[in-house]
Amino acid sequence: MYRSESGFLNKINGDIVIKNYEIPEPADDEVTVEQKYSGVCFRDILTKQGFFPRVALPIIPGHEIGGTVIKKGKNVTSVNTGDRVSSLIYVPCGKCEFCSTGQENLCPNKKSFGEALNGGYSKYVNVSTDSLVRVPAGVPEEAIPIAACVTAMLVHAIVKMGKIKKGDNVLITGAGGGVGVHAIQIVKAFGGHPIAETSSQWKEDELYKLGAEHIVHANDDFNTDVKKLGGADIVLEDVGILTFNKSLRSLKTGGRMIVIGNLNPEPVSLPLGLIILKGNTIKGSITSTKEDLKMALDLNASGNVKPVIGKKIGINEINRTYDDMLARKIFGRVLIEY
Ligand SMILES: [Zn+2]
Ligand SMILES: [Zn+2]
Repeated sequence: MYRSESGFLNKINGDIVIKNYEIPEPADDEVTVEQKYSGVCFRDILTKQGFFPRVALPIIPGHEIGGTVIKKGKNVTSVNTGDRVSSLIYVPCGKCEFCSTGQENLCPNKKSFGEALNGGYSKYVNVSTDSLVRVPAGVPEEAIPIAACVTAMLVHAIVKMGKIKKGDNVLITGAGGGVGVHAIQIVKAFGGHPIAETSSQWKEDELYKLGAEHIVHANDDFNTDVKKLGGADIVLEDVGILTFNKSLRSLKTGGRMIVIGNLNPEPVSLPLGLIILKGNTIKGSITSTKEDLKMALDLNASGNVKPVIGKKIGINEINRTYDDMLARKIFGRVLIEY
């Protein structure tokens, strides 16, 4: 029997309420994972704000999950107690056309942690083995919960969708955020040249330290600056309407824009002539597969990608931390420590 202080979202726009919670036995195909850390994501705030109307309330929020297996359901053979595991942010159905071709990130029947299933704001979480990847030696504990939502999501976007090659210029918008700081490292690891766009001057030194080769600013016509550097082979667009047009104009002929985030739900305008003339591609990229997650953990194990953690908090500090995240006061990701 395992109990811990766990966070609950009981109603939309309500605070996260901390409760002493006893986790149920794992189902036949699940394991109970003991977490040292779980991740806090901007998506958790959007869930609280009612952005995902189908959230099954009350729920334990959080989809950034990983740790050590401490108990197995009776059909589990793929992992053992004592194994370190990292979880996808969802449970795939395993049966659809996408799941059967290694594209489970596109599964229309997937169930997301923290929205359809109880999630990570708890020391103990039950997770289906369909979502789990074993963590190799050498991966720091802090990297485990954020691997699927951050590192592997970026591997999917930069490597699979963007098809990065050595020497590619990669413009990363919103580079000072928790996603961007990892994107810089992944671009570097694959031999690309990261160009970081940020609106926060105080983050610039840190961005250079992480490997950014140039920094451009959202308020300027940064497409002119990127053009001077030869243009972008890939844009990783993580902001939306504020940067989209300049990002598009930063692409060189044959360039790829991979859209991974959208801070503001306003639609953007799309100059069709421009993308036709330059043969540009715009693709959306959504979350990660188990294959991406394995690749991400290998990048962590080799030390090529290090987790950038801005703050470790106790579960009791979660509501205050949401305010800090909304005010963009934190550089890097936030972890809850148990
Ligand atoms: Zn996340
Ligand atoms: Zn499926």
